[in-house]
Amino acid sequence: MGTHAQNAEKFLTDQERAAWFNRSIWYQRDKRDAQSKSIQNWEELRDLASRIKAHTLANLAAYLEEFAAKAEANGVQIHWAEDADAHNRIVYDILKRHNATMVVKSKSMLTEECGLNPFLEKRGIEVVDTDLGERIIQFAGEKPSHIVMPAIHKKREEVGQIFEKHLGTPLSGDPVFLTGEARKHLRQKFLSADAALSGVNFAIAETGSIVICTNEGNADLGINARAGVHIASMGIEKIVPKAEHLGVFTRMLARNATGQPITTYTSHYTRPAQGKEMHVVIVDNNRSKILNHPDFYEALKCIRCAACMNTCPVFRNSGGHSYNFVIPGPIGSVLAPMYDIKQYRDMPFASTLCGSCANVCPVRIPLDRQLYRWRQIIGKSIGKKFILASAGKILSSPVLLSVFESISSFLIKNFSSFARALTPWGRSRELPQIPEMTFKQWYKKNGQFKR
Ligand code: SF4
Repeated sequence: MGTHAQNAEKFLTDQERAAWFNRSIWYQRDKRDAQSKSIQNWEELRDLASRIKAHTLANLAAYLEEFAAKAEANGVQIHWAEDADAHNRIVYDILKRHNATMVVKSKSMLTEECGLNPFLEKRGIEVVDTDLGERIIQFAGEKPSHIVMPAIHKKREEVGQIFEKHLGTPLSGDPVFLTGEARKHLRQKFLSADAALSGVNFAIAETGSIVICTNEGNADLGINARAGVHIASMGIEKIVPKAEHLGVFTRMLARNATGQPITTYTSHYTRPAQGKEMHVVIVDNNRSKILNHPDFYEALKCIRCAACMNTCPVFRNSGGHSYNFVIPGPIGSVLAPMYDIKQYRDMPFASTLCGSCANVCPVRIPLDRQLYRWRQIIGKSIGKKFILASAGKILSSPVLLSVFESISSFLIKNFSSFARALTPWGRSRELPQIPEMTFKQWYKKNGQFKR
């Protein structure tokens, strides 16, 4: 697990793949732009979405309690998890009670964040990811490279090879054939699963319902086919106050994520089906810390549409796997240091600060300002503080500046190639030719320098 710069350098060694990845991601951005122009009041909708989220975050405890009370009255079992470990244990205990040995799971970044799959697999429970992209990378033993299109980095020929190895299908790069094979394979899993796991896109406080958006209908098949229990994992920030607010976000989510007017399936789950159980695990896992941070609380407005990564020039050119955090791109770079500032200290620097992320964000999170703020915070805590203090001393003293100039021009002339080779940033850049003398030396030599 290298730094973002090291991982990006590795990604860029395959220039053909890097160019193709960039084009595929930009295509999503193009589709999003076309959709944004199809709605007259797009900017007002963004304002409204941002304001609804701000209001909800300001009253989060009350809305969560309202949601939990309504859901329980509907027959849903509510659980509260302080962190990833608590979440995984709650899910495992429910599955154990149901003697589950195989579960079908629809895409959920929260369960990725909590490391649920390895947790359950270690305890003998098979987890089948049923979103096609997720299933591909699960077979490949990789992590998602994008929050909406987890296998976007895989070419169709590679998918064909993966299916040949894991499903025994004839080698093919035909997406229609491969999708058909995946469908056959997954149907059989849906029909034999003991339990269904899902994420939650939105939770409505006034009704106690959860809303799950998919394009493949895999969540609905998993929940409704055979499984006797449905467990939905939900971050505390997924709440919207009323059903009437939902339309603002469903209009925004698919348009920003995949350039569609709406996701193919927008399913509301309010109560368990007859003879079945429904559980919702409400997870904090650091979110209340983010909520309490004056600089970063707005990151909790995120609806995980991925528009900020699709537009980000650094994401498009460094690939999703170059970010070590579960969520890549601008929003991931804002969230990650809240989890571990040491481990993810390089992520806020994986940005040009061009502001394109903030320009497209449907809930108006000031991502560029937040990334810049992280740089200030991280810069304070490392050697930069010492370097800047030393630079201040040198620049305020003509004598020290003169000495430093002589030493630095000697070092630059003789050791710059060596120093550049030490960092990925340096290795990918060429310095301009160093002049024979500094301006001061030149001026002195030409006889007009007076002190
Ligand atoms: S930060 Fe904004 S643009 Fe990025 S994923 Fe979240 S909602 Fe979408």
